[in-house]
Amino acid sequence: HSQSHACAGCGVKLQTEHPEESGYLPEAALNREPVICQRCFRIRNYNEASSITVDQDDFLRLLGSIGSTDSLVVHIVDLFDFEGSLISGLQRFVGNNPVVLVVNKVDLLPRSVNLNRLRNWVQKQAKAEGLRTVDIVLCSAKRNIGFEHVIEAIEHYRKGRDVYVVGATNVGKSTLINRLIHDYSDMERELTTSRYPGTTLDAVHIPLDDGKSIIDTPGIVYPTRMTEIVPRGFLQALLPDKPIKPLVYQLNDQQSLFINSLVRFDFVEGERQSFTFYISNALSVHRTKLERAEQLYADHRGELLGGPSREELDDMPAWTRHSIRIPRGAKKDIFVSGMGWIQANGTSGAIVDVYAPKGIKVLLRDSLV
Ligand code: GDP
Repeated sequence: HSQSHACAGCGVKLQTEHPEESGYLPEAALNREPVICQRCFRIRNYNEASSITVDQDDFLRLLGSIGSTDSLVVHIVDLFDFEGSLISGLQRFVGNNPVVLVVNKVDLLPRSVNLNRLRNWVQKQAKAEGLRTVDIVLCSAKRNIGFEHVIEAIEHYRKGRDVYVVGATNVGKSTLINRLIHDYSDMERELTTSRYPGTTLDAVHIPLDDGKSIIDTPGIVYPTRMTEIVPRGFLQALLPDKPIKPLVYQLNDQQSLFINSLVRFDFVEGERQSFTFYISNALSVHRTKLERAEQLYADHRGELLGGPSREELDDMPAWTRHSIRIPRGAKKDIFVSGMGWIQANGTSGAIVDVYAPKGIKVLLRDSLV
């Protein structure tokens, strides 16, 4: 099959190079019949239709139309996948409309975490991404923590205008919208969640008392997040539900750790030090010597190391290596979008390698915790 083929599902031109762009399919999937893009594959095989989602081009068009309204924009992000779920360039598109940043899933962090410090961290990161916010609200839509502050912020900044709720997929937008419906409107209805992803930009309107609305927009799909590329059935293992129990590993250099079969972490060089894994409690970590890591993976991927299965892994992009130099000094996180992060506790610096599916966002950041 040549790469000029079209997807038998949606007709988009197929390509194997850029997971973040339309028409992508992994090399290995080219040999299957019918030849369909990864998005169509997932819709067909995992019946992935719980939220209305769109790709980045459609989403940017939608955002652009918000810019020409006079409204309040509520941007909901996932604290567990902050860099993965923040909509970059949001500021450019919403124009002069104020943005309230709602940071969801605070329930996942250990209770000992200082919320003021957390808010400062969020503020700094958002600013670095070029996002100006009128307010930052930390909450848990699911556990009903801080939700009164969300309502307060909307009331305070709305000033008689419509409210657009925007966010990436899996950040908890539907959970939040359903709470808003409950709190705001007489209409006790669940959202329609059966629409076919990617085919509509229709937004759900929740009427407010003054004739204005809260408008739910489709969730934007970022294939740079692990949550978007694993099989649907694996998502619940990846998305933490309960507060994360951090896993601490004292490591010598030349040791490797696997997070299931999804990520490999090599401590290549540096003094003995500890690394703390902030990942879903449903995932497992395997430790080995670096020199054995490759063989271990070849022998045990999708099995002893944990899911997804070998077949499912073959449908995902192959690993790519990120070599990261952790500087001496303040604590840093190695962030793997949609999977969590590894906190480097050493202050003496280190060199690490992270293997993750190609296209997944991996970066070094100031420690969140
Ligand atoms: P959407 O795709 O943005 O509409 O997200 P959903 O509302 O469908 O939620 C995605 C996943 O995150 C689901 O598994 C939810 O149970 C979970 N979730 C939503 N809000 C929270 C929260 O505040 N805390 C935790 N731990 N999980 C949440």
